[in-house]
Amino acid sequence: MSQRTRLFRRKDPYDLPASDEQFLRAVRENCAFHYAHCPEYRAVLDSFSFRPEDLREYADLEKLPFLPTLTFKKHRLFSLPRWRMAAVSTSSGTSGQFSEVGFDFPALWCDWNMLWKIGRPRGFFSPRPTHYVILGYKPRRDNRTSVARTAFGATLLAPALSRTYALKYENGSYTPDLDGVADALVRCGKSRFPTRLVGFPSYTYFLLRLLESRGVRLSLPPGSKILLGGGWKQFYTQQVEKPVLYDLAQRVLGIPEEHIIEVFSAVEHPILYADCVHHHFHVPIYSRVIIRDPETLAPLPPGQPGLVEFLTPLLTATPILAVMTDDLGILHPAGSCPCGNPAPWLEILGRVGLKDIKTCAAGAAELLGKGGDVL
Ligand SMILES: [Zn+2]
Repeated sequence: MSQRTRLFRRKDPYDLPASDEQFLRAVRENCAFHYAHCPEYRAVLDSFSFRPEDLREYADLEKLPFLPTLTFKKHRLFSLPRWRMAAVSTSSGTSGQFSEVGFDFPALWCDWNMLWKIGRPRGFFSPRPTHYVILGYKPRRDNRTSVARTAFGATLLAPALSRTYALKYENGSYTPDLDGVADALVRCGKSRFPTRLVGFPSYTYFLLRLLESRGVRLSLPPGSKILLGGGWKQFYTQQVEKPVLYDLAQRVLGIPEEHIIEVFSAVEHPILYADCVHHHFHVPIYSRVIIRDPETLAPLPPGQPGLVEFLTPLLTATPILAVMTDDLGILHPAGSCPCGNPAPWLEILGRVGLKDIKTCAAGAAELLGKGGDVL
């Protein structure tokens, strides 16, 4: 059994200290694989005179050379031939460049394992038939973005009675149909089955505002939920409005705050982070976070803001085992959340050079802005 499989089979997804040794072994195995099969990755490690065998103890993970996420937007790095990949995931190309990351078959198994262990305690799975309102893209064959896929994947967590999408593909482009979505929600309000709202925080906020302006007051049946997500880039732009969003959801849809769950994941770090009841993103055992000084890149102690680096041994098709984002964040110390989850939690503060980069959320907000004066 591979070291990666052993890591993903572990029972408790948040017991980091108990999994440290296994995490190290899995990263070393992963590093050796990419070193042997991806010439570009080997060149990077060679340029730092770093060999996979140099990962001897857990503290050595800090020394593993990382690749900036930008690398994956500019280059296609693969350690497996295409025919051995189960799927290829791409980031949304709002800025013109996008990353492409391959999934091998065992990685998909790991993925499902992770989804089950992270999602179950937060009530992701339910046997009850459910209406879905997706504030995102209606799937198309040529839309391979992880955002569209994840949104569709979310509708498989409980049997789908209906699916309504906010962005429909018409005449060669996506157009928002918030009115259609609002009408669908009102219909769902009359159903005895629960409804799940899935989408970017920005979309959800706009929709709730639209409903409120129409005087809509629903009381969706118990089991109804809001799943917020769509990539960590959305966070900080929306953060201020979160409490407002929770209030609105309660007022307009009758969904209490504890049933609003936020997740994040990224193409270059496809690990599922789900928030706890205090809306903190605890680091699961499949991932490690290193916060680095933006100037010196030296690792910083917990509680200090810096650049966010992610590690995971999830994929053998693409060398994403250590990626440096252009986000600033804080890793709050283990045991510091009142929810009882012992794992440290990650807070994303913002992006370096924010104004230069058009984010996916900004693109979405722009698109929605064109669709009607909901603001
Ligand atoms: Zn917590």
